[in-house]
Formats: sequence, structure tokens, C-alpha cells
Amino acid sequence: NKQNHPFWQIIHTITDFPKAGIDFYDISPLLYGHVTQLVDELLAALPDGFLDTVGAFATTEARGFVIGSLLAGRTGKPLILIRKAGKLPPPVFSENYTLEYGTDTLQIKANLPKTNVLLVDDVLATGGTLIASKRLCEQAGHGVLGALVLLDLLALHGDIGMPTYSVMTT
Ligand code: IMP
Repeated sequence: NKQNHPFWQIIHTITDFPKAGIDFYDISPLLYGHVTQLVDELLAALPDGFLDTVGAFATTEARGFVIGSLLAGRTGKPLILIRKAGKLPPPVFSENYTLEYGTDTLQIKANLPKTNVLLVDDVLATGGTLIASKRLCEQAGHGVLGALVLLDLLALHGDIGMPTYSVMTT
């Protein structure tokens, strides 16, 4: 059961961070002594046979890079980094997306082999990051199979336009 997953005993919930009224879910305690189980649980959240269809993991900085690296390391599949504007050398594709205040830009390398990607991140909140990441992957010619997250904050988003798989929900 995702709402009573044993990981809830390990992660920390910090109220009023980074600002008043926000609950912040800190997954970093899972990285200290639970790394193998974390990867086991992420892969177990996918339907049977799904992994065979994944050509690469695509992931957004910064905590997504940790989850993505662990999955790529376990499976041997490629890792595609989606970064904030100005970090990746050209050629790149860009997508603007809306944050709670203002906008930001994400970029992906434009010259990678085209494949079917699974987006991965630690937390799914409003879905803005995953939606922008999906558009970016599509610009670069990749197919997007869906998204895999450790924690899905279900109340903060509706349909984000792709299949989503999660280990924990609230
Ligand atoms: P979204 O774009 O609103 O879905 O926010 C998701 C992004 O914000 C992810 O990249 C997360 O790493 C980060 N994020 C949002 N809420 C939390 C949280 O409570 N804990 C850790 N990361 C979060």
C-alpha cells in the first residue's frame, strides 16, 4: 500500500519549508542505508515487462539526477540529463515552464540517439516539471513512455498527460 509504505517511516516531512504553508518531503534519509531497497521499490512500481520497453531514463536536476543515476546503474540503461538553462553546452532544445512564481527554462541535448524514455524524479507535485520534461524529450525526438517517481503528491495535480508510476503516495 503506497499510503502506508514502510518508506514513510524513513523520509522526513518538514512543515513550512521552504516557506509557510508548504510541507516539504525530504527523501535524503533513504539514501543513507536504504539505496538498494530504494531501487528495488522503484523498479517494482513498474508494470511487468515495462522495463524492457525503456530505452533510457530522462531526469531533471537535482534530486532527479540521484534517482536516475541509481536506476541507470542498476539496469545498465542510458541516462539523459535535463538541466536548467545555461548548464548544457549546445546544441540543446529548450522549454519554458511555469513555477509557483514566474517561469524557468529546462534544456536537453539535441544530438542524442532517439529512443523511448521513462522520465524519473523524486517527487511529483504540480506536474509542471514532468510536463515540461516530456515536451523537451519530444522536441528531441524521443518517445515518452511515462514517469516514475518515488513520491506522488496526488492532491497537487490532475491528469499530467502521461502514465505515472510511484512507490509512495499521499
Ligand atoms: P512540480 O513541478 O510542481 O511537480 O514539482 C516537482 C519538482 O519539485 C521535483 O523536481 C521535486 O524534486 C521538487 N519538489 C516538489 N515538492 C517537493 C518536496 O516536497 N520534496 C522534495 N522535492 C520536491
